[in-house]
Amino acid sequence: MNFTQFDFHQKIAAGIRACNYETPTPIQEQAIPAILEGRDILGLAQTGTGKTAAFVLPILQRLLNGPRGKVRTLIVAPTRELAEQIHGDITRLARQTGLRSVAVYGGVGKLAQIKRIRAGVEIVVACPGRLLDHLRDKTFNLSKVEHLVLDEADHMFDMGFLPDIRRILNYMHGERQTLLFSATMPDEIRHLAEEILNGPVRVQIAHSKPTATVAQVLFSVEQNNKTSLLKDIMATTNMASTLIFTRTKHRAETLARQLQKAGYAATSLQGNLSQQKRQQALSGFKRGDFKVLVATDIAARGIDVTGISHVINYDVPATVDAYTHRVGRTGRASRTGEAFTFAGREDRKIISQIERSLGSKLVWNNVPGLSAEMPTFTPAKEPAGKKPWLKAKRSRPGRARAGRPAFKFAKSEGGDKQEAPHVRPGKAGSRQKRRRRAAMLDSGSGNLFLNP
Ligand code: AMP
Repeated sequence: MNFTQFDFHQKIAAGIRACNYETPTPIQEQAIPAILEGRDILGLAQTGTGKTAAFVLPILQRLLNGPRGKVRTLIVAPTRELAEQIHGDITRLARQTGLRSVAVYGGVGKLAQIKRIRAGVEIVVACPGRLLDHLRDKTFNLSKVEHLVLDEADHMFDMGFLPDIRRILNYMHGERQTLLFSATMPDEIRHLAEEILNGPVRVQIAHSKPTATVAQVLFSVEQNNKTSLLKDIMATTNMASTLIFTRTKHRAETLARQLQKAGYAATSLQGNLSQQKRQQALSGFKRGDFKVLVATDIAARGIDVTGISHVINYDVPATVDAYTHRVGRTGRASRTGEAFTFAGREDRKIISQIERSLGSKLVWNNVPGLSAEMPTFTPAKEPAGKKPWLKAKRSRPGRARAGRPAFKFAKSEGGDKQEAPHVRPGKAGSRQKRRRRAAMLDSGSGNLFLNP
């Protein structure tokens, strides 16, 4: 199957080629024909499934006919980063069509947004708060909107935006096509969907599970040993591009600084930064200037960076959804990735909720000297032969199990100086790296936990 089946206009087909999309993803296969027909959509889709192009491409096709310079599509997203992301995708896919979009969000001046809109755009991608400001200021109106997209609706709900969404809906009258995408379906979103969607086509892709291409590993670790464990993992694992999540802004900032001191090209993305700094951090990470980005959940929503090889949950996320979103930042568009989660005793409740949602048990990996005391868990069975990364990671199990861990872990994080001095990023030889890695992964249950 390829994109020719949708019969897109050649100007849109050029955008698809420019993005190097060859085969439609499952959500694109399901959603594109229905959107082209003008149907409403209720999309239950996880991150990294190609959801954005699934709604952008057919909307572009429908916008090719009709007036230019009027706001005919409104896309509402919960965060600035996601709004920028969608706007960027539109810009790439619509390059040849002459259709224009603008991203509208707070934290930056209104004037540039007003100028852009007044110069004529067909698509507005907006966060709810700033959009309402513009609507109240009468910068533009929604009277000509033919397509409304609510993206990541469950996160808009989590972030308290539902009243704003209802206010925005009050500015809209007349016929329109409405597309609502959400990774989960809490009651409030179900009610909203029932109210605003008209005979929707339901599109559902692997609801609430990280993509199967992500290997997930859980490390049992005491809170004050997390940075030591992180540095050891980073020194012994081949990581192309790593996204680390912390619970607080302060912790993201501090950890990024510690990693910089340890010689890593790291930066942070968190709410204490100005919009300009956030953008710089994200662009630098996308370009590969920063190999490590330490972020909080809110700041990281909608981050779409292809090629993130590792996601590390330095702090366990507060909800199962947040876990799904974080882990979904790697393994995107069918690439493989690894997600490491650092957890202690206090995290057991959320870990079992995550396990229930995954439908499989996670295995605690203990690291000598660093692990939290955990009850004994039954190791999960490895699905033999299916996961190529298992082989690579467990290349020398015998050595590690023989009770001679190949490297020392520092006992505490009292300061960077206490950490094993010989562990230097990029300096360990591959043999040494393999040993360390084998020691880490085999020291507990000896298993990775995997999403079957
Ligand atoms: P999304 O779920 O929209 O955030 O998309 C995840 C990633 O998949 C983005 O980097 C897209 O550019 C990419 N993508 C979307 N559709 C395709 C496709 N048909 N083939 C390959 N990559 C795609």
